[in-house]
Amino acid sequence: MEALIDIQKTRIAFFSTQPYDKVFFDKYTTDFNFDINYIESQLNNKTVELIQDETIVCVFVNDVVDAEVIELLAQKKIKIIALRCAGFNNVDLEAAKNHDIRVCRVPSYSPEAFAEHAMALILTLNRKTHKAYNRVREQNFSLNGLLGFDLHGKTIGIIGTGNIGKAFAKIVKGFGCKILAFDVVVDSEMEKKGVIFTDLESIFKQAEIISLHCPLNEQTKHLIDEEALSMMKKNVMIINTSRGALINTSDIIQALKNGKVGYLGIDVYEQEEKLFFRDLSDDIIQDDEIQRLMSFPNVLVTAHQAFFTNEALTQIALTTLGNIESLLTKEDIDNKLALLA
Ligand code: NAD
Repeated sequence: MEALIDIQKTRIAFFSTQPYDKVFFDKYTTDFNFDINYIESQLNNKTVELIQDETIVCVFVNDVVDAEVIELLAQKKIKIIALRCAGFNNVDLEAAKNHDIRVCRVPSYSPEAFAEHAMALILTLNRKTHKAYNRVREQNFSLNGLLGFDLHGKTIGIIGTGNIGKAFAKIVKGFGCKILAFDVVVDSEMEKKGVIFTDLESIFKQAEIISLHCPLNEQTKHLIDEEALSMMKKNVMIINTSRGALINTSDIIQALKNGKVGYLGIDVYEQEEKLFFRDLSDDIIQDDEIQRLMSFPNVLVTAHQAFFTNEALTQIALTTLGNIESLLTKEDIDNKLALLA
């Protein structure tokens, strides 16, 4: 089969570059014989212009790869869109197919990284170690306001039991929690290990902590909305390390204001593409919803950092470059989950 592009001349336009991306990708690019044009800007209909003679674009979670951008990429003779992440809700796959552009992703990279971050959010919100850290540094050794609860014996609801949901279940099992789970596919191996698969409503009604690990799609958009929140226990803890739009932000703000939600830990946010991965410390933030969320004492926001471990970044770089090489040499990728179009 004829190669898609002459691999010796392969140049990659790498959007949304952060300093750590360079560190991890530069370690392996020479092994793969690629030449990377690192671009700091996010990909969108204006920044497409930054592509020079590259035939591949590498993108991340907040790059805009909708039908309009894909049309422009096709005009620039782009042949491959390589996502260096698992989620692909930001890419119009139909449009890519219509323009004969191949799309690949990193289907799984260190699921433990995300699962451990979800647990970090739970432990911080519960035991308030972030407050204790600041308090003690100011020589305030009082415990007032730091009261937590035992995780042991609590009911945790996991929505989405794929790679990350499974890794998270293992962790919470270690804490002695009862685990309820919902997924469109029931995992019999997990059932054997004591995970109880049930429906969403039962999870909403029974769980003290709900952690989201499903992808964002038409069925899951605003999965946590006013109706879902109304079914939940008072003081419920909600953790989202998956995708921001799984939660209806204005509905959860109301539920925080009226005390229904007792704790919220989010690593993702519906409107994050204008905020996350940037230092905006000198800017006036125009997004009132994130400002409101950050004003609650029982809300913890991290800026899409669940993936940010040494192990995960190594796997992202190796898999992304390996996917591109496979598409160039074989027009295919052995791991079928990596190929989206
Ligand atoms: P995965 O594909 O292994 O698992 C996803 C699971 O969700 C599957 O078991 C699938 O059956 C299930 N699912 C699909 N539709 C569902 C629905 N309507 N309701 C309930 N479950 C449903 O993916 P993963 O590697 O476990 O990742 C899960 C999600 O985490 C990704 O889709 C991505 O959005 C997100 N993620 C976030 C970060 C981060 O840095 N915060 C990084 C990677 C992935």
